[in-house]
Amino acid sequence: MILTRRGLMALAGTTAALSALPAFAQDKGTIGIAMPTKSSSRWISDGESMVKAFQEAGYATDLQYAEDDIPTQLNQIENMITSGVKALVIAAIDGTTLSNALENAAAQGIKVIAYDRLIRDSANVDYYATFDNFKVGVQQAESLVKGLKERFPDVKPWNVELFGGSPDDNNAFFFYNGAMSILQPMIDAGEIVIPSGQMGMDVVGTLRWDGAVAQARMDNLLTSNYGDKQLHGVLSPYDGLSIGILSSVKGVGYGSGDLKMPIVTGQDAEIPSVKSMIAGEQYSTIFKDTRELAKVTVKMVDAVLAGGEPEINDTSTYDNGVKVVPSYLLEPVSVDISNYEEVLVGSGYYTADQLK
Ligand code: BGC
Repeated sequence: MILTRRGLMALAGTTAALSALPAFAQDKGTIGIAMPTKSSSRWISDGESMVKAFQEAGYATDLQYAEDDIPTQLNQIENMITSGVKALVIAAIDGTTLSNALENAAAQGIKVIAYDRLIRDSANVDYYATFDNFKVGVQQAESLVKGLKERFPDVKPWNVELFGGSPDDNNAFFFYNGAMSILQPMIDAGEIVIPSGQMGMDVVGTLRWDGAVAQARMDNLLTSNYGDKQLHGVLSPYDGLSIGILSSVKGVGYGSGDLKMPIVTGQDAEIPSVKSMIAGEQYSTIFKDTRELAKVTVKMVDAVLAGGEPEINDTSTYDNGVKVVPSYLLEPVSVDISNYEEVLVGSGYYTADQLK
């Protein structure tokens, strides 16, 4: 039995007694929150921030993680629908596999918010809360170029390899395209060379954002293309991949003796990567304040459930194959050694101790 605030009032008899009670589920119903995996800390922060914000807004929550397994996530979402949640907030593992489940949700009047990742091929996605994903890619490439200029000022052309995110995640294409909007003109101008020749998301994508897969691919790239060449930079779209890529390059001697570490980018400002930046290994990351994304999402859900219109700031970018999903985009922030303290510690996202 879920004890509601109203039920408690009846039980307690007085509001004074009620205020002494812990924050139980209130009357606004339960929100189902489906997150992809706990293997990356950003999704843990997303989940925690949302549970807190939903509870403060008077909702109960059902938060589930699926350890990057598509059938598990589908099952969790179906159970949430059956249990009568008022709304679903979903960060999909594979953005294309939820159409049937979402039809059932719509049939029951359950509102659906795509969280951070667009849900594709379904008309039953009401809103999308995310960051400016194209801009994330632009910032990654800009920071790669900044690093190349700093660390290898006299080298021309720079030897660079490209990594993409998971091809079943719509964001991965936005990150890659954003990055290539900066890198392609430099490749065309002969300032950057891709010695492996491997370009395009169909070739450079990394299924399930798996760091071990990226590490193995980097091993192969080094063996096959860098016998007589030095690697200067790697476009990496996510910290978990960056850590794998860094292990690979360190394994063949980069970062020791005369062989300078290549510039390696990232995303999410996860603690191991921030520590790696402080140690002079990973060059940069992109900070996306998941506390803010959680807040925007909770406000969105609250507005929709009250029958109103949530605040959105983009009505043209995110076509999911069936409709353009009205979106709210937050601003990503590029972080490197020069600003990590101000951005990550100054904002209270991490304490200085967590980064030691
Ligand atoms: C998110 C990124 C994250 C990646 C891997 C993407 O959908 O937008 O922040 O790095 O998934 O979890």
